[in-house]
Amino acid sequence: MRAAAVKAYAPRLDALFITHMHSDHTTDFNDVITTRWIMSARPNPLRVYGPVGVEQFADRTMAALEFDIGYRLAHHDDLGDGPKLDVSSLNDGAELEEDGLRIIAAATDHSPVHPTLGYRLEFDGKVVAIAGDTVPCAGLDLICTDADIYVQTVIRSDLIEKSPSTRMRDVLDYHSDVAQAGETAARNRVKKLVLNHFVPPPTPGKEAEWAADATARFSGVVLVADDLLEVSC
Ligand SMILES: [Zn+2]
Ligand SMILES: [Zn+2]
Repeated sequence: MRAAAVKAYAPRLDALFITHMHSDHTTDFNDVITTRWIMSARPNPLRVYGPVGVEQFADRTMAALEFDIGYRLAHHDDLGDGPKLDVSSLNDGAELEEDGLRIIAAATDHSPVHPTLGYRLEFDGKVVAIAGDTVPCAGLDLICTDADIYVQTVIRSDLIEKSPSTRMRDVLDYHSDVAQAGETAARNRVKKLVLNHFVPPPTPGKEAEWAADATARFSGVVLVADDLLEVSC
């Protein structure tokens, strides 16, 4: 629904890139598959890329959709057949190139979640790094080197450290906090740092406070992203 809101409608998606199979990063996968299938005029396989294990994840998602697919096939004669996926797992260092767009996958560190990937997108001399969930690591530096835009999921360690919940404090050791994102951006000469996937959720009006630990370490642009924010290189 968020993609559709920026006119990236499901039938127009050529490919989907998954960083890791944590539920908060994949929960809408089934909806993309179904929406794309029923809104496309012709058979339109969706290419899916992700870390090793993504084939199994895709197969099981399709199995979960079995009833839904059956209902829709029974209702619409012109659907012909069920949704089709073309799924490929990517290893650390994998590179894809198509129509001038180059995508490089690099292993990130979200241990004990293995494997996880970040992506570097290069097009027309511009570079966007999509980090996913990770602490600073060599793979993250690789995708961020001289990036125009670096998108990092972040937590506020100063707030989470105060939580009485052990389970909440557990998240500290496998996410970048805002300061680490700022350090990664500075170390790799990034131009714009986009923070997203905030834990805990920011209070409206506290965006500057959220950015502060990054701006103290990184002199480029720091954006505390709202849903549907559009960023240009
Ligand atoms: Zn995760
Ligand atoms: Zn996450």
